[in-house]
Amino acid sequence: MAKRDYYEVLGVGKNATPDEMKKAYRKLALQYHPDRNPGDKNAEEKFKEAAEAYDVLSNPDKKARYDQFGHAGVDGAYGQGGMDMNDIFSQFGSIFGDLFNGGGFRGFSGFGGGGSQRRVMRGSNLRIKVRLTLEEIDHGCEKKIKVSKYVPCKTCGGSGSKDGKLETCPHCHGTGVVTETKRTILGMMQTQSACSHCGGEGRVVKDKCHDCHGDGIVKSDEIIAISIPAGVQDGMQIPIQGQGNAAPRGGVPGDLIVLVEELEHDLFERQDANLYYNAFITYADAALGASVEIPTLNGKVKIKVDAGTPSGRVVRLRGKGLPIINSYGHAYGRGDLLVSLNVWVPKNLTKEEKKVLEDLGKHPNFQPNPTKQERGFFDKMKEMFS
Ligand SMILES: [Zn+2]
Ligand SMILES: [Zn+2]
Repeated sequence: MAKRDYYEVLGVGKNATPDEMKKAYRKLALQYHPDRNPGDKNAEEKFKEAAEAYDVLSNPDKKARYDQFGHAGVDGAYGQGGMDMNDIFSQFGSIFGDLFNGGGFRGFSGFGGGGSQRRVMRGSNLRIKVRLTLEEIDHGCEKKIKVSKYVPCKTCGGSGSKDGKLETCPHCHGTGVVTETKRTILGMMQTQSACSHCGGEGRVVKDKCHDCHGDGIVKSDEIIAISIPAGVQDGMQIPIQGQGNAAPRGGVPGDLIVLVEELEHDLFERQDANLYYNAFITYADAALGASVEIPTLNGKVKIKVDAGTPSGRVVRLRGKGLPIINSYGHAYGRGDLLVSLNVWVPKNLTKEEKKVLEDLGKHPNFQPNPTKQERGFFDKMKEMFS
C-alpha cells in the first residue's frame, strides 16, 4: 500500500507552524486513540499513521529530508508496520503532558477494565546515562550500573501494611471513585472523581509498615545490568519496560530510560554509521606507491596506496564502519570507514635532507601540474560522499 503524504495525513499545509501541526496531531490522536476505539483496526492504523507523520514533521531534521526526498528520505526509520505503539505512547508525555498524563488515558492501567475504575498506582520512570566507547557501540555490550531507585519494601512485601492486609476503602466501597449528584439548570448531573480517602486505589492500609510508612516502597541502591545493542548513537534513549521505580503498594513499575552518551575516540570521527580516519603517509609512499597499515575498530588492515596518490585522497573501506540500526535497535548492515590519505610534510630537516629536497624540487616532474579533476574541489567532495 502506498504511503499517504504526511502533510495530507495531518491535514496541514507545507508552511504549517509547529504549533499548528501539534494541534492537528492532537485532534487526530484523540479521535483515533485506541482507548476510544477498542478493537477498531482501522482507527489503530489511522492513529499510527498520524503519529508517524507527526514524528517526522515535528523534527526539523527529518522534515527537511522528507521535504527533499519524500518517504524515501525517512523510510529507514519505520518498519513495514509503521511506528511501534509503545514509541507512540512514550511520546505523549512530552507532546500532550496535560492531556494524557493528567487525564488518565494511559497513566493508570486500571482504567477501563471490568467496570471497576480502581486506580492502580504506577511507578515513575527512572532516567540514567551510560557512557560508551565506539568499540562498545561496535559490538553492543552489557553495562552494570548502580542506581538509586524505589523497590518494593521487603518488610511488608510491598503491601505497605504491617500485617500484609489491606482493607476495602469504607468511603468508596473499593471502587476508587465517588459519585456526586448535583442539581443544575440542565437537570440532575452526576460527576465522578477519584476517592480522596484512598487516593483512588479502593483499598487502605490500616496498620502501616514502619519501614516504608505505608507506601510499600523504599529507596535502595541497586546494580542494574543493561544490555546495549550495537550501533546506538549519542543522544539515543533506550526504554526498558518495568525496570524503573517500583509503584506504591504493588502497582505497575515505571520504565528505565537509558540515555546514550558516546565518548570521543582517539582515532575515529563518527557520522551515523560511517567512521572517518586521517592517515598520514610519507611523500615517498605517495609518489612510489606502498602498502600501509590502517587501524579499524577490529584490528589493523593493510591498504594499497597507488603510485602518484595525491594528498587528501579518500579511500573507502566498505563495511568497516559501525552497525546500522533501525528504530527498534535491529542491525541491518554496516557503514564504511573513510580513510583520508594525507602526505606528511616534515617540519624539521637536517642539512643533508634539505639538500636532497632542493635538488629534487628543481626537477621538471616536481613542478605542480594538476589535472582539471585535481583542481576541482567539488569533485573531491562528491567522491567523498558518494
Ligand atoms: Zn513496608
Ligand atoms: Zn476510597
